[in-house]
Amino acid sequence: MNNIEERIIQAIKKYDTIIIHRHMRPDPDALGSQLGLKEIIRTNFPEKEVYAVGKTVEDLGYMGKMDEITDEKYHEALVIVTDTANTPRVSDERFALGKMLIKIDHHPNDEPYGDIVYVDTNVSSASELITRLACQMGLALSNEAARLLYGGIVGDTGRFLYPATTAETLKIAAHLRTYDFDASKLNRQLSQMPLNIARLSGYVYQNIEADENGVAKVYLTKEIMEKYKADDAQTAHLVALPGGIDSILTWGIFVEQPNGKFRVRLRSKGPLINEVAKRHDGGGHPLASGANAKDLAECEQIYQELQQAAKEYKNEYEV
Ligand code: AMP
Repeated sequence: MNNIEERIIQAIKKYDTIIIHRHMRPDPDALGSQLGLKEIIRTNFPEKEVYAVGKTVEDLGYMGKMDEITDEKYHEALVIVTDTANTPRVSDERFALGKMLIKIDHHPNDEPYGDIVYVDTNVSSASELITRLACQMGLALSNEAARLLYGGIVGDTGRFLYPATTAETLKIAAHLRTYDFDASKLNRQLSQMPLNIARLSGYVYQNIEADENGVAKVYLTKEIMEKYKADDAQTAHLVALPGGIDSILTWGIFVEQPNGKFRVRLRSKGPLINEVAKRHDGGGHPLASGANAKDLAECEQIYQELQQAAKEYKNEYEV
């Protein structure tokens, strides 16, 4: 049959109801790709019912709102999941109730779920992939779609800083900027943080510990989270901070949850860390991953595995 992009458009044309999901604990790219795609479908196929579902994150309210729909809507629907590598991470498990399922993602394709699997790990973000798809297939973008997709790209590239930013990313972002939306306002919304989290950043800088190879860790215990009145989602503002320290090569932020388990946010400037994440109930990109630890001992085990990854990296690249 025709190429994969054409098959996706054919599927969109075929179904009257289209429901779009993305991953739990969404970031700007999850929401930008999900809501950007919704906007594109609404603009180009106004006769269709299009919904974006999943748990709302208040901090990212400027990216848009979720729809609330009944189970019946799924019966004759096409479901598209963006930015989500594996099915347990899809927000709202009803994604499996549709007639047809499409995966659109840029993470390593660890679980190729769905009837059409459209994965490209060479793009910076799911938002970049969806913009490319729309442009290749001659679909019109609204100003709002451009705003959402631009926000997703800025979010996942750390404002065009991370290595996944390519010349193509910049071309696509430049194209999105030709639409009429307030990019300065959006950039501000993406980068500013509440005062309590700014204060918690101070705690991170004060308490981060690193070994001689630049492998760093910081614990955000329940007590600390309470003291700073921080919630788990807000730690998104902190994850990149250690990367600004010249001697730090790879790091983990261990966020204790109300049940005493830890959400582990891993980042790296070189050593590949997604294999570490996969061994601990997680996954993600080679340089940006997430994992889960049942207790402090598992957190320390993860830290040791990061140390090992850093040693191997240093030996291989003689850095
Ligand atoms: P985060 O620290 O939540 O921003 O996650 C960084 C990257 O790792 C994102 O691309 C996530 O999709 C991925 N990730 C985070 N947690 C998990 C998990 N438990 N399982 C699989 N991938 C994850």
